[in-house]
Amino acid sequence: MAGIVAVFDFDKTIIDCDSDNWVVDELGATDLFNELLPTMPWNSLMDRMMKELHAQGKTTEDVVEVLKRIPIHPRVIPAIKAAHALGCDLRVVSDANLFFIETILKHLGLSDYFSEINTNPSFVDEEGRLRIFPYHDFHKSPHGCSLCPPNMCKGLVIERIQASVAEEGKKKFIYLGDGSGDYCPSLKLGDGDYVMPRKNFPLWDLMCKNPLLIKAEIHEWVDGEELERILVGLINKISIQENAQFIPADCKLQTISVSAREALPHALPVQQ
Ligand SMILES: [Mg+2]
Ligand SMILES: [Zn+2]
Repeated sequence: MAGIVAVFDFDKTIIDCDSDNWVVDELGATDLFNELLPTMPWNSLMDRMMKELHAQGKTTEDVVEVLKRIPIHPRVIPAIKAAHALGCDLRVVSDANLFFIETILKHLGLSDYFSEINTNPSFVDEEGRLRIFPYHDFHKSPHGCSLCPPNMCKGLVIERIQASVAEEGKKKFIYLGDGSGDYCPSLKLGDGDYVMPRKNFPLWDLMCKNPLLIKAEIHEWVDGEELERILVGLINKISIQENAQFIPADCKLQTISVSAREALPHALPVQQ
């Protein structure tokens, strides 16, 4: 079991679009969404949009059907399966909502690969309307982070995960994301951790402005193919380093590159 926790953002990281925008656009409510966006927080607006769509006769089944067509790069699924097969603890941290994420992961056959989904709670009410709520109750207890939207500070989520795995020994984190909401958790990563920002997306832009603020090692990626190659490469690199710790110092030079690699499960190919 590798001592690695891989934390995935969802929108534009696992899937190749924003799930909120996808549902709104596919169900023909883009104009109303754009009209209301300046008047309320995004997360509250999504709950409102579900109310509007429900009033128009759109059912949760319609939402599910739309979610099943969501764009995803074909290499992302094997990347997740490979990371899991190599012993990583995989988690999702997303500002989408539980209904969207669970529906998509189930449809893709990925539900069992993640130990945890941290996101905005949601449920279908007695009238069949999807309700979406903030992760943090920002009226009762604001999270106080100026970098993050009021409904969710992903940095606080990362700190909670760091604290919860600390007793299992030193774990290395790999964080994958694209958005400005992924900047706060990236700042919480330490020496020996890794962050994988999607190139030319807001997280990458923010990190480029002041790379010295990031303690984790930065590895950019452009698409699912690169995500797979870099993620699997990092996991193998970390595993080799971990194995090397158990080899006596005097024979390290001769044996590390051969024996450690041979001892590892092979990353690819993984059956889809
Ligand atoms: Mg994202
Ligand atoms: Zn934050």
